[in-house]
Parts: sequence; C-alpha cells; structure tokens
Amino acid sequence: NGDVLLTLVGPRLGKPLRERDTIARMGGDEFAVLLPGTGSTGARSVAEHLRRALEAPFVLPRLSVDVEASIGVACYPEHGTDAEILLQRADIAMYLAKTARTGHAVYAAHHDHYDPDRLAMAGEMRRAVSDDEFVLHYQPKLELATGDIRGVEALVRWHHPIRGLLPPDQFVPLAEHTGMIRPLTLWVLDRALSQCRTWMAAGRDLSVAVNLSAQSLLDPDFAGDIALLLHQHHVPPRLLELEITENTVMQDPAGAVTLLATLCEMGIRLSIDDFGKGYSSLAYLTQLPVQNIKIDKSFVIGMGTNADDGVIVRSTIDLGHNLGLAVIAEGVETATTLGDLRALGCDVAQGYFISRPLPARELDHWLDGIATARAGECPVSSGGSPGFDQPAYGGSADDFSAQTPQPPGS
Ligand code: C2E
Ligand code: CA
Ligand code: CA
Repeated sequence: NGDVLLTLVGPRLGKPLRERDTIARMGGDEFAVLLPGTGSTGARSVAEHLRRALEAPFVLPRLSVDVEASIGVACYPEHGTDAEILLQRADIAMYLAKTARTGHAVYAAHHDHYDPDRLAMAGEMRRAVSDDEFVLHYQPKLELATGDIRGVEALVRWHHPIRGLLPPDQFVPLAEHTGMIRPLTLWVLDRALSQCRTWMAAGRDLSVAVNLSAQSLLDPDFAGDIALLLHQHHVPPRLLELEITENTVMQDPAGAVTLLATLCEMGIRLSIDDFGKGYSSLAYLTQLPVQNIKIDKSFVIGMGTNADDGVIVRSTIDLGHNLGLAVIAEGVETATTLGDLRALGCDVAQGYFISRPLPARELDHWLDGIATARAGECPVSSGGSPGFDQPAYGGSADDFSAQTPQPPGS
C-alpha cells in the first residue's frame, strides 16, 4: 500500500507546478521541488498549493488514507549557493514546519544551530546507516531484591571513520533535526532484537530496552514496524522495553497515549525515562500504559551529597510503587548509593558502579564473571546482591575508551 500511495502522491504534487519546475522523490517519503526564478513569497504560495493538493484522502485498493506534508523552503542565493547546502537548509526548515505544525516554513539562519561541520555530519549520517557505522553498547540493569540481571539498555554509538567513537549526544539531536532519526531508530531496534535473539539462543533471558525519540511516537507506521521486527527476529514482545521521556510524550500527549496503548497491548514493556527532569505531568503519568519509571540520574548521583535529591529519589520510589509501577534508578555510581536505593525499596539499579555500557561480547564476559562469582557465594541474606560490593568496572574512563571490564569480585 505504501508503494501504491507513493505513485499516487507524485502526480498530485506535480499538478500545481509549472512546466519548468522539477519534482523529484529523494527517498522514503521525501520529495523535493525545484522552482527556478521564484522568490520566498512565491515559494510559500506554491508550498500551500502543494499541501492543499494532498488534502483529499488517497483511495488505495482496500482503504482510504489521509496524508499530511511538512514543507521546508530554502532560496538561492540567500540561503546557500550550492545544492547540498540548499537541501540541508530546506531540511532544517521542513523539520521546523513539522514540529511547529505550521505546514511550511522558510529557512532562517536563527533556526540553524548547526555549524558547517555538523551539517557535514548530517550528510554523513545517511551513509553511516547503510554502511553499518553505528554500534550498540549494552548497560545491564540489576534487580535489587534478587541480584539478577534481567535486562539491558541498548545505547547507540557512532564509529565515525575519522572522528572516532561518538556518543549519542553528538548525533542523536542532529538525526532528530534532519529526518534521520527514523532510519536510525529502526537500525537500533533491528540490531537490539537480533542481539536479544542471540542471547536467547545462548540461554540468556535478557530483555533489551531501546530509547525512542519523539518522532517515533508521531510515526503512524511505528507499531507496525516493531511488530514486523519482533516477528523477523523471533523475539517475544515481553523481552522488548521502550524508554520514552516525559518531554517526548508531551509533544503530542493524545497521540502518544494511543500509540503507547497499542504497544502495551502487543506485550511490549514501556518505561518513562529521565523521570523528574522534564515536564512531569503527574496527570499523564496515570494515563500512560507504562510499567516502569526511571528516576533521572541527576537525582540519583546527587542523593549522596544533596538532601533534596535524596528526598526526590525516596518520594519518586513511593510514588511509582503507589501507582503500581516498578522503579529503576539510573546513574548509580557508588556502593553507598546502591545500598541506599536497596534500603528504600527501589526495584532496579543501573549505573557505572554496576557496569558501564559494554559491547555485546564484553557484556557476555561480564555476565559470565557474575555467574561465577555468585556460584562461589553463600546463599544471599535478605536484600543482598552478591557480586556488587566492589565496583564492577574500574576506573573513570567511559565506554568510549578501550578498556577491559572487570567482572565483579575479580
Ligand atoms: P539515557 O537514555 O538517559 O541513557 C543513560 C545515559 O547515562 C547513557 O549515556 C549512559 O551511558 C549514561 N550512564 C549510565 N550509567 C551512568 C552513571 O552511573 N553515571 C553517569 N554519569 N552516567 C551514566 P549515553 O550512552 O551517552 O546516552 C545519552 C543519551 O542518548 C541517552 O540518555 C538517550 O537519551 C540517548 N540515546 C542513546 N541511545 C539512543 C538511541 O538508540 N536512540 C535515541 N533516540 N536516543 C538514544
Ligand atoms: Ca534511557
Ligand atoms: Ca535516562
């Protein structure tokens, strides 16, 4: 149906154009229109005509669908003098039109917080997805009552051929602003589920959590894409967890509630990430079909030194439990914090003290190290987590530097 739809969209977009204009499909559901000799006012008016051309529903063999477009305008020569820059700037304007829901937007320099270097990176990202330059590292989640590792969080990194291993902060926001987040998210899901399947085959029952950006929650195909990936990788939905932030939900609360309900019905588990840091609409929290909240790491890191952070952590654990949710603390960097969280009844802990995010193979070693350490221990007294009295992964370097993990107890 997607292919049929695309063949119907093209001619409709062609209608409002003149003989000398050019329309091209750039890939996926992106089209570009070249309007020679048209200023920004003229281009805006064409943009409105193009949007109107898509207004009537498209009739496909067995269904009728509504289509919406967001249009970004960049003009030669004020916004750029070569095709590459003009396309990038049209892309930035398009993103603005999409997030502000204005239909169309004309590029303006103040929209653009990206220097030429970062714009070059946006171009490289398209290639990087197909060339497999991204990698996932996995950070284990420790169940405090049992000491078991039942799940991991997948965190993406970019193995850039020149810049080295880049953390997500350096390219995820860029991907979100340039339409690359959809292919990137699908790549992450595909890779994480494939790894999950490998663990299942090795007898490891590990759930894998994937972080989502706001665009995924606005994407009507998202639930279908996930169902297909689960099916392809033969992974039961209970082993997939999706992490979303409150801010992500707040971009379109009604839409998010609907999509999350669908995902929840599919048997996928959902977590509110960075809880306490963002919008914190408690009203929405009760409406969202989530199973977990993750207390933002800033409070967890601060709880050792700052009394207010301690209060926030304790209250969030109580709030979560009173709403019937499991509470995960992220950013656990010390043994003291881990002990305090256990005493407060927190369910799951994640952080450098337990383990840094690791490539799958190193995580396997680490898990084997724990199994060995635990096998050598006496049965746990109540609330104990054997193997976590020592930092699991020494040193302060992050997982972007090559370092060999130390299994706890070694
Ligand atoms: P997040 O989801 O809150 O992930 C936790 C971040 O905290 C990770 O940073 C992790 O390495 C770091 N961290 C873990 N334990 C500790 C600790 O004990 N102390 C401290 N200070 N930090 C700790 P990372 O990997 O750099 O990821 C940063 C953010 O990038 C993530 O924050 C998430 O929002 C985003 N991200 C990562 N992977 C993806 C992805 O595949 N898709 C999307 N959309 N976003 C992603
Ligand atoms: Ca997360
Ligand atoms: Ca987080």
